[in-house]
Amino acid sequence: GWDLKGLLKRNWLLIATIVSVLLGIGLGVLVRDYASLSHLDKQYFGFPGDILMRMLKLVILPLIISSMITGVAALDSDVSGKIGLRAVVYYLTTTIIAVILGIALVIAIKPGVSQKAENIDRTENTQNVNTVDTLLDLVRNMFPENIVQACFQQYKTTRKELEPSKVKRNTTTTMFPPLSTTVMATIFPPENITKDYIIVGSYSDGLNVLGLIVFCVAFGLVIGKMGERGRILLEFFDALNEATMRLVQIIMCYMPVGILFLIAAKIIEVEDWEIFRKLGMYMVTVLSGLAIHATVFLPLIYFVIVRKNPYTFALGMAQALVTALMISSSSATLPVTFRCAEENLRIDKRITRFVLPVGATINMDGTALYEAVAAIFIAQLNDYALDVGQIVTISVTATVASIGAAGVPNAGFVTMVIVLTAVGLPANDVTLIIAVDWLLDRFRTMINVLGDAYGAGIVQKLSRRELDRMDGTSDVTNPFAL
Ligand code: ASP
Repeated sequence: GWDLKGLLKRNWLLIATIVSVLLGIGLGVLVRDYASLSHLDKQYFGFPGDILMRMLKLVILPLIISSMITGVAALDSDVSGKIGLRAVVYYLTTTIIAVILGIALVIAIKPGVSQKAENIDRTENTQNVNTVDTLLDLVRNMFPENIVQACFQQYKTTRKELEPSKVKRNTTTTMFPPLSTTVMATIFPPENITKDYIIVGSYSDGLNVLGLIVFCVAFGLVIGKMGERGRILLEFFDALNEATMRLVQIIMCYMPVGILFLIAAKIIEVEDWEIFRKLGMYMVTVLSGLAIHATVFLPLIYFVIVRKNPYTFALGMAQALVTALMISSSSATLPVTFRCAEENLRIDKRITRFVLPVGATINMDGTALYEAVAAIFIAQLNDYALDVGQIVTISVTATVASIGAAGVPNAGFVTMVIVLTAVGLPANDVTLIIAVDWLLDRFRTMINVLGDAYGAGIVQKLSRRELDRMDGTSDVTNPFAL
């Protein structure tokens, strides 16, 4: 029968979100047109939304720490050798391809850049720092000298011009030996060859996300190899992860309220209606990226390795894809994903039982693409010129944030805040992005599920030999039981 009550119950958050978007627009328009409020009064409308952002930022730290450490440690103990390794290589490769595709598109389409020519001083955040400095900063940040400090600060290189009297002429302060100097100078032309600088390190506000990630991966690997004694730590971080996820669920309940006021405040303050054109272009960018990834890159990789028609394969997954689109959760789609992969596509159960559930939590091509596009879109909105190091940082953090996102609705939006924090972008601009997340979430979840399915097909093909050998010995136990 038609179970309206059940339907409402399962989708209440979605319904509440859409209702609050509409109410937010209504409230915004009303206040804008009929209330004569002072500038300060108008700002109060943003307050509930501000609280939402603060709550989201609050969970970043426990989220990174617990999900990275448990994820890495679990890989080591649960994954059986080569098959697991192949799956992980597939997950990472496709996720990185998705991120690069997203970045290429958002840079080409420029959804957040104004069409009107504006005179903005872009020198501010690149001043004094060249590409070499930026890349060295990136690596330096990967190795925080103080893990507690890394929880709230980020290393930044600044250059200080040496006083002329102190500069010995004919000595260059380059850090490269003479032979490579010419090569380096062509790749990274020095901005000002006549001036000499000393590098002055400093710290800026903002979580050192990259440093924390490197630390957690290393720590997780070590714990995974520690055996019995490592279990205690693993269980601790596992519990921390569960507690954090529950906290996120609670925050989600507040989200409709936050969204309502964020949107209302945005509409009240907006002076430049071009913002809605930008938002539309942003959606076009994300959706076309997802479409290209799903219809070109994933099928191509599948075809090159498996040598079968990738589109027939996708067709076999149709039911799972539609389910993902409807419920925007890879984890909740899992039962359908299994059925399609095993029954329609006849993929070996020993492969699906490992590749699909692990994939549903860590392999999220759509989410990774979305996060990279969203971060750069926000940078464009703010006329914030990103340097090479920051774009690399966005790629790395978007990849990691997609791994860290759980397969539940809007998880990718929560971890996107990690990407913003990593490059010091203002998190307040997520208002616009939140308003359309319920829609983009569905499509990226669909691509996440499709990526997992292709992964199962590819890993099966690559693991023919191991599977045949296993057939000879035993066919009862599932070696990848999680
Ligand atoms: N909803 C997505 C999924 O379950 C995660 C995300 O929000 O990106 O795959």
